[in-house]
Parts: sequence; C-alpha cells; structure tokens
Amino acid sequence: MDASKYNATVVQKILIRPNLMILRVATDDPREKFSSGQYTTLGLYGFEPRSENSEPETILSQPDKLIQRAYSIASARHETHQFEFYISQVKTGQLTPRLFHLEVGDRLFVGRRIVGVFKLSEAPKDADIVMIATGTGITPYISFLRSHVMERPQSKMVVIQAAARQGDLGYFSELTFLENAFPNFYYLPTLTEADSTWTGYRMWIEDILEEGVLHKEAGVACDPEKTHFYLCGNPKMIENVSTWLVSKGGYRKKSRRSEGTLFVEEF
Ligand SMILES: Cc1cc2nc3c(=O)[nH]c(=O)nc-3n(C[C@H](O)[C@H](O)[C@H](O)COP(=O)(O)OP(=O)(O)OC[C@H]3O[C@@H](n4cnc5c(N)ncnc54)[C@H](O)[C@@H]3O)c2cc1C
Repeated sequence: MDASKYNATVVQKILIRPNLMILRVATDDPREKFSSGQYTTLGLYGFEPRSENSEPETILSQPDKLIQRAYSIASARHETHQFEFYISQVKTGQLTPRLFHLEVGDRLFVGRRIVGVFKLSEAPKDADIVMIATGTGITPYISFLRSHVMERPQSKMVVIQAAARQGDLGYFSELTFLENAFPNFYYLPTLTEADSTWTGYRMWIEDILEEGVLHKEAGVACDPEKTHFYLCGNPKMIENVSTWLVSKGGYRKKSRRSEGTLFVEEF
C-alpha cells in the first residue's frame, strides 16, 4: 500500500489509560512557528490496523484514503519539529483507533499548517486569564502555560479542569507542579464522581463561578473588563458555561468578526 503522504514519526507514546494517550511526533521538516492554543491535523490511511480495544467503525474507511482530523498541540509555541498531542480514543471512530495502534517508530501524516484562533495572544498581557476544560480540552492550555506562564507575571492565570474521577485529570502532575512554582498560577480541579480520598472541589463549573470560588482562591473577578475566559472541550459544557458567563457575567463571545473576552473551542 502507498503511504507516500506520511511525513512524521512517532517518538513517544504514553498510554495514560486504555482510551487516553499522549503522542509525541517528530516531523521530517520543521513547521512554521505557531501561537499557543492552535491545532494541526494528524492522518493515517484507512488500510492501517485499528487498536485491539476498539470497536467496528461506524462509517467504514476507504483503505486508500488518508483519514485526517484536527488535534490541538500541547507543546510550547517555540517547537518547530517535535509536537505533543493528547488524544482520546473514540472506539467506533475512523482515526483514533488507528492512532492508538501506533508504536514508537511508526509513520503518520502531520498537517503542514498550524492554525486556529483559540490563542492566548488574543488577550492583553495584563488581563487575568481563566481557562476551563473538560477531557482533552486541557491540551491548548498546556501549550498556553508552557509558552507564557513566565512571561505574564502581572497576569493571574487559572485553570479549572472538570472531570468525573481523578484518573481523568490529564496533566494533573504538571499543573500541580506549575501551581507550586508560579505565584500567579492557580489550578482548580473539580470532580463529579470522586472517591473518598479526593479532598478538592466536587462542584459543577457553573457552581464554581456562581459561588465566587475564583475570587476566593485566586482574587480573580468574573468581569469582562479584567478577565478573559477560555472554554475548551465538551460542547455541552461549553454551552452551559457560556450561557452562564453571557447572562450573569456580561461576557460576549469572541469570533472572527466580533470582539469579545470569551473564547471557545469545541472538540
Ligand atoms: C479544533 C479541534 C481540536 C481538537 N483537538 C483534539 C485533541 O486535542 N484531542 C482529541 O482527542 N480530540 C481533538 N479533537 C477531536 C478530533 O478532531 C476528532 O474529532 C476525534 O479524535 C474523533 O476522531 P475519529 O476519527 O476517531 O472519530 P470519527 O470517525 O470522526 O467520529 C465518529 C463519531 O464519534 C463521535 N465522536 C466524535 N468525537 C468524539 C469524542 N471526542 N467523544 C465521543 N464521541 C465522539 C461522533 O458522533 C462521530 O460521528 C479536536 C477537534 C477540533 C475541531
């Protein structure tokens, strides 16, 4: 089979859970510098094998067709050659079961362009930043923090990460480390199905906002003049939290055509 479009090699695969992994790839040629928060495409042909724990795909792939999907980059923005991705397997999906079958040394396609408007550079340097994530929606924030946390000492940066259980909190160790290392960074994980060992928050994101936890923990106000909000992940979370921020916080969504201090990216 012809795999001539492949232009990158897997250099590391960390399986966090059977359906969740960090994949690091090295591209044959360097990419242009990008802005933290942007994404590119990963691709594999339909003839590639699927992971052992996947299920039959809902829509059958053509063997000779390159299946491509968008993935946010977790790496810092100065990387031009090696890129980190945080990927959740959709068991019946076309691409992710094939990505989960990859091993170190295997080849794949990585898009030539890195694109997207979900960028920290859109917010003024002195604005406080609240980054809210579910699932793999944490990925662009890892890039934000790896790229900028040291450069924005005058800005408070807060991550609110919501999940069911502690094992679902991707990058928990790195975020905890950053919170201990940088006085302007605050990490607020919250779990909805935590066991008795969990001592952190057990609230829905809307309740965290409603009950003033941001102000209590970080001295950050839900005020569009001072604080920019980023929401990334599950579409339902984005809808609910956006509705709260627009109706109760006076926020306006930023789009290509209009100004705003509420940025959203749905996966
Ligand atoms: C800008 C952008 C950035 C993204 N970044 C990431 C990222 O960093 N990490 C990541 O894992 N994904 C990310 N995604 C999602 C990714 O592009 C794919 O949609 C996802 O990996 C599924 O691909 P697939 O080919 O396996 O499934 P598909 O064959 O495309 O999907 C099969 C069906 O599964 C359902 N489905 C699709 N996605 C999901 C899901 N996430 N959970 C449950 N069901 C689903 C849909 O109903 C779909 O019809 C991003 C998407 C966008 C638009």
